[in-house]
Amino acid sequence: MVAARMHRLSILFLIIISISAMTWHYLGGADRKFVISPETAKYSAIDDKSQGGASLTHISITPQQTILTCNIVNQAKWPFCEISIDLVADEVGIDLSRFHSIGIDVDYLTPVENERLRVYLRNYDPSYSSSEDPVSHKFNAIEFTPRVSDGLQVIPLRAFQVLSWWIADYSVPIEKSGPQFNHVTSIEIATGSYVQEGTYTIQLNQLVFYGKWISEANLMKLLLASWVIFAIVYLVSEQFQLRSVLNEIREKSLRLRQANRHLYKQAQEVEALAYTDALTGAKNRNVIERYLAELVEHAKTNVQPFSVIYMDIDHFKSINDNYGHETGDEVLRCFVALINQRIRQTDVLVRWGGEEFILFCPATTREGAAGLAELLRDIVANYQWPSSMTVTASFGVAELENEDIGSVIKLADKALYLAKQSGRNCVVCEEVC
Ligand code: GH3
Ligand code: MG
Ligand code: MG
Repeated sequence: MVAARMHRLSILFLIIISISAMTWHYLGGADRKFVISPETAKYSAIDDKSQGGASLTHISITPQQTILTCNIVNQAKWPFCEISIDLVADEVGIDLSRFHSIGIDVDYLTPVENERLRVYLRNYDPSYSSSEDPVSHKFNAIEFTPRVSDGLQVIPLRAFQVLSWWIADYSVPIEKSGPQFNHVTSIEIATGSYVQEGTYTIQLNQLVFYGKWISEANLMKLLLASWVIFAIVYLVSEQFQLRSVLNEIREKSLRLRQANRHLYKQAQEVEALAYTDALTGAKNRNVIERYLAELVEHAKTNVQPFSVIYMDIDHFKSINDNYGHETGDEVLRCFVALINQRIRQTDVLVRWGGEEFILFCPATTREGAAGLAELLRDIVANYQWPSSMTVTASFGVAELENEDIGSVIKLADKALYLAKQSGRNCVVCEEVC
């Protein structure tokens, strides 16, 4: 529950961050400006004298504007004059590749109309530039016609092109022949390519680069990465949670199974107690309801014999009288143990009351039951009883025919009575065995 709430909050947080970041970017929050001025860069005038020309220049530099006045004389092959702005003292230059446009506010006064002005962004690259040769710095160039009081003109940097004569002169390979702005050393604002003789004035009022702290593409990548990281964290935590829930369920089901086994064992023990005589360990009469009807039914359906042996310890009263009640109890326990040792697992020994027991013998004829009774009689009579007492028992045997079980028990009881009459310590069948 807590984890699900955390996930929902994280999603909400990410949605808010994503929308805010995109809105911030769209409204220009990431906009960045780099102003070039005489206070931060070195402004100077350059003309064609170094190339054998005779043009005359004069430059006036104030923090507000730079005015280059130039009298072009048609002597050099390519007469020109320009304002040169060195951005840094070293030749490595500054990285302007993060800017997308340059803004120039320049007034250009020329002897003839529609004269063009050149702007160079000179870039250093060790693969083609050398410190001895200033011309070896790449000419990223644009030429346009500014008018007086035109205000700030914004030119995208992608409109700049590298001069083809420079590519040819320096044998620049194709991969390096495009515009580059990562090491701009200087900016040059020069008269056009084909100037006529006369006075030219370049009045530079403002020079500024425009860019963004983070591009739209990078912002999108950043947001996408945040969502991907969140998704991974979400999946991993979900996996952990599922695993712990699964473990909990496993532990619970194990505990339930153990409790179930324990209860089943207890139920079995209670059930066994309910059908067992506490003194002797033989079955008690409750067992009749449980097994006897089934045993008899089974015998009848399968046409199998079923016999009953009614047994009674002889003169048990005098054992109690002579040796005490506790010894009498011990004799009862020992008697049952002796019988249990000899009978089959399918036989059921029931304490019918006092010192009387009935042995129910499935799949046994009266002859078989009589044989077993004789064996049991012999075992009891010849057992070494404590205090050298004599313990014997009498046995009455009957077999189930068509009557009910109650009648067979009565028949066995009758046979037992006859055994008592016959002097005890003997076996009698209800019919001739
Ligand atoms: P018979 O040979 O005719 O069977 O004589 P008997 O003395 O065995 O028969 P009787 O029915 O007269 O006496 C049975 C005695 O068994 C009476 C009773 O006190 C005793 N008895 C019954 N249940 C228990 C018992 O759980 N423990 C003990 N110690 N004696 C018991
Ligand atoms: Mg008796
Ligand atoms: Mg009796």
